[in-house]
Amino acid sequence: MSTAQPRTVIASYTSPGALLFFTIHAAALYALIAIAPSSTSLALCLGLFVIRKFGITGGYHRYFSHRSYKTSRPFQFVLAWLGGMAAQKGALWWAAHHRHHHQHSDQEEDIHSVKQQGFYWAHIGWILAPDYFSYDAKRVKDLTRFPELVWLDRWHFVPPAFTALACWLIDGKTGLFWGFCVSTVILYHTTFAINSFCHLLGRQRYLTGESSKNSLILALLTLGEGWHNNHHYYPHSARQGFYWWEIDLTYYALRALALTGLVRDIHEPSRKVIDSNHLGAEGVAQAP
Ligand SMILES: [Zn+2]
Ligand SMILES: [Zn+2]
Repeated sequence: MSTAQPRTVIASYTSPGALLFFTIHAAALYALIAIAPSSTSLALCLGLFVIRKFGITGGYHRYFSHRSYKTSRPFQFVLAWLGGMAAQKGALWWAAHHRHHHQHSDQEEDIHSVKQQGFYWAHIGWILAPDYFSYDAKRVKDLTRFPELVWLDRWHFVPPAFTALACWLIDGKTGLFWGFCVSTVILYHTTFAINSFCHLLGRQRYLTGESSKNSLILALLTLGEGWHNNHHYYPHSARQGFYWWEIDLTYYALRALALTGLVRDIHEPSRKVIDSNHLGAEGVAQAP
């Protein structure tokens, strides 16, 4: 269980970031109850969900955290900006904590382990905890050598602020509440669900020594991130749906971007690696 002290808990709920986080939730709830969405605001909500989710899955996760493909320096900045629009802090902060999660999955040091600290902590608690406001720069040395990324990480509220302003300019109050707030809250919880639900619900294909699971429902909600057991088995792969029936929209988007030349050297495991080490195979324990 979490060992957070009362003072830490209070700080978790009263920091400027936490207050903004709860305000966006309150605004999204208000929109659902009191504001009829326009077709423009619904298009903004859906469009901004997909674009920003790709910024998180294709950018923050598969590029910055795992370096599973290559791209140019300008497009790298575009990816950091797109992920930043989701209001989940900067690419360096995100990648540093995520690399820590892979290194210590379900061990005592794991920052957001359902097994160690429970569902709430893994889903939201750790994000609000002052202990994790900063990040260990040593974990992202490959990224801190780009001053523009360090700048954007420091000023991580700039991309979401521009996004909110654009929604307001396009469709007024309805655009701001539905296009930005509702969409942002859905982005939050679908991203957080990978840390919580994907270590609880679903099936394990590979014996990875921790609790990651594969879930089609979560893969559909997160552009392919729900194949989390595959991912923990082979984190360096840009492709997380290992078989044709494992829908992975982020991977398809990366393949499409590769056709345009914007990204290259997309890393994938060999067929032999994918097909081996399945739970239930000879010599490997059957999953419970
Ligand atoms: Zn995980
Ligand atoms: Zn990962």
